[in-house]
Amino acid sequence: MEKTFCQIAKHYKKIKQQIYVAATKRGRNTNPCTLVAVSKQQTDERIADLWQAGHRCFGENKVDEAERHWQQTRATNQSFSLHLIGHLQSNKVKRAVALFDVIETLDSVNLAKKLQREIDVSGRKVRVFVQVNTGEEPQKYGVLPGDLSAFLLQVHQETNLEVIGLMCIPPQGDAPGLHFALLAKLAALHNIPQLSMGMSSDFETAISFGATSVRIGSALFGKRAV
Ligand SMILES: *Cc1c(COP(=O)(O)O)cnc(C)c1O
Repeated sequence: MEKTFCQIAKHYKKIKQQIYVAATKRGRNTNPCTLVAVSKQQTDERIADLWQAGHRCFGENKVDEAERHWQQTRATNQSFSLHLIGHLQSNKVKRAVALFDVIETLDSVNLAKKLQREIDVSGRKVRVFVQVNTGEEPQKYGVLPGDLSAFLLQVHQETNLEVIGLMCIPPQGDAPGLHFALLAKLAALHNIPQLSMGMSSDFETAISFGATSVRIGSALFGKRAV
């Protein structure tokens, strides 16, 4: 416990500092940046250590695993924020709405309607980001950049979902800055305030392009179990 706590506390402090510096360069007052600590495939001990260090905003990419990590905490009414950063299957919408505060991966109108129904039934406040497939990769989820306007219009017409942000995962091997710039441009065009972009290897770049939240796993917790 002691040893991993010290390591994680050290990483946490360093990353917060790096975020602060990058956000200050960008103009921090107008553009603060939230750290979403990605706890997927991390041990309970490491997650407890970061919680102990005072962090309260986490991200998970799978509903099942997120329940194992966070259901207990949610049930005891602790104040924290949980983001879903992986694809949401429609048969898991009920459980996702019960657990998450922010769903970053809205990618279909059908899913939007299901989320709206479940939010209405449960009374929970859940906000959403639209995942944009900026690299137009066939194997990746997300709305294509060229389809975004029509998609947002349809979500707006058919649901009351609060779309507060856009998120992207740049293709491996591409310069991420191109994708961050595109996502920022799309958000500005549609008056969407938040941008979830940047991971362990490129979060400072993402902040320089206007990220309002970064999703950091391995740089914070250490390597994931595979
Ligand atoms: C796993 C994951 C991350 C975190 O990746 P690291 O490189 O470990 O920081 C960020 N975003 C998404 C969507 C992920 O699935």
